Amino acid sequence: MEAIKEYDVIIAGAGPAGTSCALALRDSGLRIAILDKSAFPRDKVCGELMHKKTVENLEKVYPGFKKDFVKFPKTLVLKHTIMHYKGRDVMYDWEGESYTCPRYELDNYLLNLLKETGKADIYTKVIPEQYTATDDGVTVTLKDKHLTLKGKLLIGADGVNSVVKKQLAGGRVDKQHYIGAVRTYFSNIKDLKPDTSEIFFNSKYHLNCLWVFPVEGKPGMANVGFGLLSTRMSKRKINLKEAFYDYFKVSPELGEKFKDAKQEGPLEGFGVSLGSTIGTVSGSRFMLIGDAASLTNPISGTGMGNAVVSARLAADQVKRCFDTNNFSATNMLNYREQLEKEVYNELTRSFKAQRMLSSIPYVLDIGFGLAKHNWIKKKIQSMV
Ligand SMILES: Cc1cc2nc3c(=O)[nH]c(=O)nc-3n(C[C@H](O)[C@H](O)[C@H](O)COP(=O)(O)OP(=O)(O)OC[C@H]3O[C@@H](n4cnc5c(N)ncnc54)[C@H](O)[C@@H]3O)c2cc1C
Repeated sequence: MEAIKEYDVIIAGAGPAGTSCALALRDSGLRIAILDKSAFPRDKVCGELMHKKTVENLEKVYPGFKKDFVKFPKTLVLKHTIMHYKGRDVMYDWEGESYTCPRYELDNYLLNLLKETGKADIYTKVIPEQYTATDDGVTVTLKDKHLTLKGKLLIGADGVNSVVKKQLAGGRVDKQHYIGAVRTYFSNIKDLKPDTSEIFFNSKYHLNCLWVFPVEGKPGMANVGFGLLSTRMSKRKINLKEAFYDYFKVSPELGEKFKDAKQEGPLEGFGVSLGSTIGTVSGSRFMLIGDAASLTNPISGTGMGNAVVSARLAADQVKRCFDTNNFSATNMLNYREQLEKEVYNELTRSFKAQRMLSSIPYVLDIGFGLAKHNWIKKKIQSMV
């Protein structure tokens, strides 16, 4: 027999966006369900760098977050970044800290925070088959579970391949604004400092850099990865995994740093949907947040910060909808407006800067000459 469970808000996806949204709603008095296709803890292919923005916004949705999170044994506090190009190095001291934390640990940490509040029903290892939104509410049918969830509002937080987006917003992948990225881990990396992330540029791959982000508690070990715009890969027939290993061959300083290093685990790929174009992010009875809404910064490739910002803004909109009993597409546009103010303006600036820089010949040679100047450092920090 098919069972039906009733909620006010159903959140699809328990990554940083979904759990942040549920945490932001914990004292709203609303009945919340959050569901995910994976069993937790689970991995997510990612560079695992958390900019200050991610932690500041988690602190906003869950006051006290930062104090406990910096003490979490898997969190590494970063203070500097070194950029390398043709044997030249530029060191950046970040205004405010950034962090790394394996996604296997971080996402489980966030879900456990939510569990501890006891304010949401958590369904993991469930496959949502069909999302339906009508004037009366939303329905989610779960595959093989003989269970249907009914709610008044749906939040799509199910990542870059969002099924909520496909089924309710007709979303498609826009290759012009999509990156293919790969990452793996290496141990025994030479001169790896635990408080310093490193980024390597090479003129063969233009502005696409290879990152080396250290991992807490494992000296010499780092998350290493690289991404390329989809259109560039198809135009130049580039195989991303081959390009990753080629990067070490064409960059002497990288070859030296990794000469005794050992790859730990497979090289895994995943998509990144850039926030350089604004698509549909809401409609009658639903909103999209995080990667489902395509909010990754086109320059830094980081998306967790904006995932948490969008979760916070969506939670505010959820409260407005219930206060006014208005779940219409028009009312939901308030969410889009807030997103434009807090996220898209910054993303549009980064996108324009990225396109402008990409069109300048010898941009890396020129840029590295200037990169040591403080005003350039400040400009770069403001764009990521
Ligand atoms: C290689 C790579 C490197 C990156 N590096 C960084 C970085 O260093 N720093 C940074 O800030 N960002 C980085 N990003 C981006 C970052 O990973 C995302 O922006 C972030 O994970 C978005 O969070 P989210 O909660 O929206 O989505 P996700 O983290 O993808 O979470 C989505 C959740 O939904 C679940 N789900 C998916 N499909 C379904 C379904 N059909 N039904 C139910 N559940 C579903 C998934 O299991 C998952 O738990 C990187 C991305 C890639 C690919």
